[in-house]
Amino acid sequence: MKEKKIILVSCGPFEKEFLRKIGHAVDLEFRIPVEIEDGHIDLEPFYSPGRRQYEGNKLLQKVSTCTKSDFTKIVGLFRVDLFIPILTYIFGQAMLRGDAAVVSVYRLKNELYGMRKNDALLLDRTIKEVVHELGHTFGLIHCHVPNCVMRSSTYVEDIDQKTTHLCLRCRKAFEEVGE
Ligand SMILES: [Zn+2]
Ligand SMILES: [Zn+2]
Repeated sequence: MKEKKIILVSCGPFEKEFLRKIGHAVDLEFRIPVEIEDGHIDLEPFYSPGRRQYEGNKLLQKVSTCTKSDFTKIVGLFRVDLFIPILTYIFGQAMLRGDAAVVSVYRLKNELYGMRKNDALLLDRTIKEVVHELGHTFGLIHCHVPNCVMRSSTYVEDIDQKTTHLCLRCRKAFEEVGE
């Protein structure tokens, strides 16, 4: 059987330490080793001039094919503003029971909301979104437990309400997938 591995793809300039901490948190949550790679994805073809944002669904497809390495799941981390046609913006997007996910820090930053920059909070929010989107790739759906990482978030305040962890029911569901 193929060895389990999650690849975190850096699709923008990120500090190594930031990526490493996300990788560590993901490893702890899913008990699957995480490797960090540089994405080298040209974002221009994914830009929508009308919306001045980048197309989340197309980037999701791109991320799933952007490496030659073997992986179980792959998640691309972006700095640009992502959208899908039915929504104003997205924090992230994933293929349900698929192999890829994308997350952007763009709307996770305090500065966007006129608040003081907070690196620790940005890291915390990014970890939650990466774990959340990866959860979808493992087949987990949205959960109503208030502090569960699989609870859906529309605003950053919603993200701040939850933890970086799966609740017991989601953990059981994740373990039953056995993927
Ligand atoms: Zn979700
Ligand atoms: Zn849950």
